[in-house]
Amino acid sequence: MTSDTSLARAVEHSAQTAVAKQGGLRLKGEDLTKSFYGVPAIDRVSFELVAGEVHGLLGENGAGKSTLCSVLSGLYRPDSGQITMRGEPVQFRSPHEASGHGIGMVYQHFRLVDSFTVAQNIVLGLGKQFGRQMKVVENKVASLAEEYGLDIDPSAAVWQLSVGEQQRVEILKQLFRGAEILILDEPTAVLAPQEADRLFEAVSTIVARNHAVVLVSHKMREILEHTDRLTVLRRGKNAGSVETADTNPAEVAKMMFGERYVADYRPIEATTAARAGEPVLIVQGLDVEGDRGLAAVKDVSFTVRRGEIVGVAGVSGNGQRELQEAIAGLRSARQGSVTIADTDCSKMGPRGRTRSGLAYVPEDRLGTGLAPGLPLEHNIVLKSYDRAPHSKGGVLAPANIAATTKQLVEDFDVRGARDGMQVSLMSGGNLQKAILARELTADHDVLLAAAPTRGLDISAADTVRSHILNERDEGRGVLLFSEDLEEVIHLSDIVMVMFHGEIVGTFTRDELDIDEVGLLMTGSSSK
Ligand code: ADP
Ligand code: MG
Repeated sequence: MTSDTSLARAVEHSAQTAVAKQGGLRLKGEDLTKSFYGVPAIDRVSFELVAGEVHGLLGENGAGKSTLCSVLSGLYRPDSGQITMRGEPVQFRSPHEASGHGIGMVYQHFRLVDSFTVAQNIVLGLGKQFGRQMKVVENKVASLAEEYGLDIDPSAAVWQLSVGEQQRVEILKQLFRGAEILILDEPTAVLAPQEADRLFEAVSTIVARNHAVVLVSHKMREILEHTDRLTVLRRGKNAGSVETADTNPAEVAKMMFGERYVADYRPIEATTAARAGEPVLIVQGLDVEGDRGLAAVKDVSFTVRRGEIVGVAGVSGNGQRELQEAIAGLRSARQGSVTIADTDCSKMGPRGRTRSGLAYVPEDRLGTGLAPGLPLEHNIVLKSYDRAPHSKGGVLAPANIAATTKQLVEDFDVRGARDGMQVSLMSGGNLQKAILARELTADHDVLLAAAPTRGLDISAADTVRSHILNERDEGRGVLLFSEDLEEVIHLSDIVMVMFHGEIVGTFTRDELDIDEVGLLMTGSSSK
């Protein structure tokens, strides 16, 4: 597209936005609450969308963005609160009903049938009449694709398409159904930068038609560049809605991460004589490849000492998982070294690293943390079943295994396990406590804990945090990863910020500058 047409669009767009502001209110949610298992994912959130605007929805992981979108698009019914369209109260019992009101959502995980063509996917569920006129459908899809710059071959099978193309199919599907409100949940998460630019062009064409787009992202820069207004969700609450032109990165970072940790969340000092001692984990020049062959971790170096918690703050997806796996020996590094206690473990697998003194609480509890199909007992001794007291002379000792399990269940308050029941049936909080029990009671010098309180209720999260503090106070080292900035600041002696695979900032507790951490996390530092 030439810059002339972009300009024309921009002019058209701002004219439309002006019209919209004179009463083009499209969709309004008031006091929307939706809980899962008693914990509110969104809590009395109000949200307003006018015709002709791109409205950004920004917030950390778990802030409630997807839940709000799913409520607005009829996937979930709110527990309380009201949705109105053009002033009229509406209730959606399904996405289909919301679609009837012109609301279409593109989910983070696409919902396409791989073996069907683009056109077949687009009319799926719309009734039989389309089946007989596939050519007509294909022509209409082609002209919509042309109109919005969403280049696609309507007769191609979905399995042949790239992720970016599949996203276009999802968007076209909603436009084909007459969506006037398009909700895009983290659309750029799966796109290369050039593809993202094309998407934003399509978005401006859509709003130039006086439709409205909700653009969800946890990347501040993206939202600041491509929206007219933005709403920040923070821990399930609306932290504010502002005109994008009137705000700045520092203000938005405050809305995203809050100001109150300065007062409420002073870091906890080590309670015993434990102070940073000898190194127990040294990571040197680590380069790690991600799943798509791109560099996920770039030249990362740091040291964790005894009696010290080093916290890594960052929005997830910035290389944290790859770094964790490279330290744990589950993913090989392209370059660099990992030293645990006094052993260079760079060439070792997970077992060797465990033996060298690493305890690991992984992000993915049921994948790497536990064997989901086995009962709790077996999981508890997963790493120690071949040693005394759990084995004697190469034979398992069930009575001792049961005794260990019973003890840990008590000490760590693990609830909900029944004899022989597979652990995958236990709740997230109890699984997490079970992994902690296993890892912390094994001999170790350093604990690697990844998102250890994610998804836990308040009391389970507190239990986990106190175990982590206890590790430090007993003179072991802790490397803590968490998306919850407050948690990182609260617990850590040293805070590192990870962004795009790099450590972009390191702060001791005295140097800690919350605003700066917030800015670094979203890739927009003031320095
Ligand atoms: P975001 O999209 O901002 O990352 P979500 O809306 O996905 O946040 O999640 C908000 C909170 O609600 C999280 O704590 C998440 O674990 C919880 N949650 C979301 N969906 C479900 C679900 N289907 N079942 C249980 N908990 C959920
Ligand atoms: Mg989400």
